[in-house]
Amino acid sequence: MVTSQQVKEFAKAHGADLVGIGSLDRFEGAPPGMDPRYIFPEAKALIGLGFRIHRGCFRGIEEGTYFGAYPSMGYAGINYRDAPITLRALCSALEDEGHEAVPIQNMVFLTPFDISNGAPREGISRAVAPDRPAPDVMLHFRLAAVACGMGEIGYSKIFLSPQFGPRQRLAFVLTDAPLEPDPIFEGQICDRCKLCVRDCTVGALSDTETVKVTIGGREFEWAKLDEIKCSSGYTGANPHYSPFTPPDQDMQVFFERYYGASELPYNKASASMFHLPGAIEGARGCIRACFIHLEQTGRVGNRFNSPFRKREPWKLD
Ligand code: SF4
Repeated sequence: MVTSQQVKEFAKAHGADLVGIGSLDRFEGAPPGMDPRYIFPEAKALIGLGFRIHRGCFRGIEEGTYFGAYPSMGYAGINYRDAPITLRALCSALEDEGHEAVPIQNMVFLTPFDISNGAPREGISRAVAPDRPAPDVMLHFRLAAVACGMGEIGYSKIFLSPQFGPRQRLAFVLTDAPLEPDPIFEGQICDRCKLCVRDCTVGALSDTETVKVTIGGREFEWAKLDEIKCSSGYTGANPHYSPFTPPDQDMQVFFERYYGASELPYNKASASMFHLPGAIEGARGCIRACFIHLEQTGRVGNRFNSPFRKREPWKLD
C-alpha cells in the first residue's frame, strides 16, 4: 500500500515540481469524452504532476532576439521528454506495489471532439459499446489539475498554480491505489487584472463573456476564448509581434486558414524539430503579462532577484 505522501515525495524526487491528488467523483458532470473514469473505471485516484516552464524560456522572445527556447525547452522538452520520464518512474513504482497505473502524457493523437472546446468532430472513431464514449477519451488537463487541488483557472483560461502562476505543463497518472485526495484549492491567485486580455496580440480573450464550471463544489470562471484566434496568434498571426511574419500579413486571412501559420518557414522548422510550430507570440498576454503581474503583486511563490520586464516591450511597425 502506498500513501499520498510517498507518491508526492517520489514524483518530486523524479522531476516533478508540483504534485496533487484528486478523487474521481470530482469529474461528476464532465462530458464522457473527457471523464477519466471511462479510461479506468476501477481507478481510485488521479495524480496530477506539474513541470515548471523556466522564466528564462521567455527571455529571448521578450527581447525579440531568440524565439527557440520556448518551443523547445519550454514546450516539447517538457511534454515529450521530462514529463514522460517522471510518468514512467511513478507508474513503475505504483505497479511494483501492485497498483495499476495509467500514464497520461500531454499528447493528443485524435479525439472525436475538439479538445479546446468540446465540439464534435465527425468520422474519427466509433464507440466500442453503447455505454462508452468513442475513443480517445482525453482529460481536460487544466480542469484535471484543478480537480487534483493544484491551483485554479485564471481569467485567461490558463491553469495557475500558487508556486508558478501560469508557468507549468501538466501530466497525470490514473491509478487504483486508494490515495487520500488533496482538497480543492481554496485560495485566489487571479485578481481579474485582465492584463491577459489587454496584451493578447490577437484579442482572443473576451473582456465580458465568460465560461463557468463547478469542480469539487467550487465554481471557476474564465474568459470566453476564441480558439482559432488563439492558435493563429500563437503561431505569429500579428506581424507587429512576429519578426517571422510578413509585415503586410492580413490577420483575418491567417485566422481563416487556421494553422496557416505553419507555412511560415520558422514554424515549419520548429514543427519538424519539435513536433509543434514556433509559439512565436510567446504567450504575450496569457502567460507573460500574467506572471509579470503575479510577481509584481507577490501572488506567486517562485521569486526572482530582478523583475522580468526590464525595458519597454518591442513592437514592430
Ligand atoms: S493576467 Fe490577470 S486576469 Fe489574466 S489570468 Fe493573470 S491574474 Fe488573472
